[in-house]
Amino acid sequence: MAISYLKKADPRPVSENNGIRDIVAIMLNNIERDGEEAVRRYGEKLDGWTGEIVLSGADRKSACDRVPASLKDDIRFAHANILRFAEAQKATMGDCEIELIPGLIAGQRQIPVSSAGCYVPGGRYSHIASALMTITTAKVAGVPHITAVSPPRPGTGIPDAIVYAMDISGADLILNLGGVQGIAAMAQGLFGATPADILVGPGNSYVAEAKRMLFGRVGIDMFAGPTDSLIIADHTASVETVAWDLVSQAEHGADSPVWLVSTERALAESVMASVHTLIDSLPEPNASVARTAWVDRAEVILCDSRDEAASVSDHYAPEHLQVQAADLDWWLNRLTAYGSLFLGKETTVSFGDKTAGPNHVLPTSGAARYTGGLSVHKFTKTVTWQRCNEEASHQLAERTARISRMEGMEGHARAAELRQKLGAH
Ligand code: NAD
Repeated sequence: MAISYLKKADPRPVSENNGIRDIVAIMLNNIERDGEEAVRRYGEKLDGWTGEIVLSGADRKSACDRVPASLKDDIRFAHANILRFAEAQKATMGDCEIELIPGLIAGQRQIPVSSAGCYVPGGRYSHIASALMTITTAKVAGVPHITAVSPPRPGTGIPDAIVYAMDISGADLILNLGGVQGIAAMAQGLFGATPADILVGPGNSYVAEAKRMLFGRVGIDMFAGPTDSLIIADHTASVETVAWDLVSQAEHGADSPVWLVSTERALAESVMASVHTLIDSLPEPNASVARTAWVDRAEVILCDSRDEAASVSDHYAPEHLQVQAADLDWWLNRLTAYGSLFLGKETTVSFGDKTAGPNHVLPTSGAARYTGGLSVHKFTKTVTWQRCNEEASHQLAERTARISRMEGMEGHARAAELRQKLGAH
């Protein structure tokens, strides 16, 4: 490969955890021991929340009533797209059944988990879209019990628009809780929640660490790191569009990498020159966040060919991947590692983040090499079954006993041979 870097990320590692692991472990232990009392304590200390934890039906209705009609309309538009996309995903799933040898029938069933805990982040921004993305998808998968949590604002609780999004998406229970205490309450089934079989949703490092530590006891959607984005641009791309798309993704967080991979030196250099002006035009603190992300984490990579650009992109396995280049079908067929792909200059990651329909809860930090994002599949267990008639049972018994004895597993061999006696009496 003959790639060259016009800009490289700062080689210093992003601050490793900062003791977050220890803090989260202590919080989880305390909540395990003291239950709801510990949760209330953390809610007050970290989010300044002294009100009710459970959002009552009346409070849910009042919050929804306060949302302006035009915003409701926008949220319903996004919800409809997310719902229809999740329903289309569900239509691709299904049970199957096959007769493997005469009389041996095996099958697969897809069963939704019994309960899901959906985390809706809300520390820095009000992530309305995360409520739609997580809860709607769980609902379409057929999860019967869905709990949703989000950090309450002191004195007022979860922002009204988030409550509205949770409500129309189908949350059964809403809790005024953020961070580790919200995650733990859903896992343990506190405040009337059904203990979660799976915890989903994005969140900051405390939230991600709490999910990581609880994994095993409960399922999780994925291990989440900082949001990342890559843009592939060729001679057909517009400097302004590419630059804004990079800046808008750098706005996510100071540790959010953005990468530009281009076959055009002139375009790449123009983008690099204009990024700073665009960042300066943002309000604070967004400008500072995006500036740090750009200076420390951004990379600009020049490639000789589109094939090479595709290989570089697959190597990075970005969470969000935009292609602003000719022959979009070629890229769709060629690229193999990304959370979600945005083809053409007419679309942007902002659409995918907020309104377009495919899920925005996506694999970060290269995890797109082995997993896709949140989908109805993540809320569904694929389980198998089998059944034999006597003829098939006799055939399996003989072979199973021989293999079991070769493995030294005498008990298995005898359990198998017992089946040979079936029908003998
Ligand atoms: P958040 O809701 O994840 O975290 C806020 C909570 O953190 C608070 O309720 C508090 O309880 C807890 N907390 C804060 N400081 C703490 C401390 N010192 N000790 C213990 N707990 C503490 O909201 P946020 O912080 O704004 O982070 C949101 C994250 O979600 C961002 O990283 C953003 O990039 C990410 N996100 C990702 C996607 C995606 O799809 N990839 C979408 C939306 C948001």
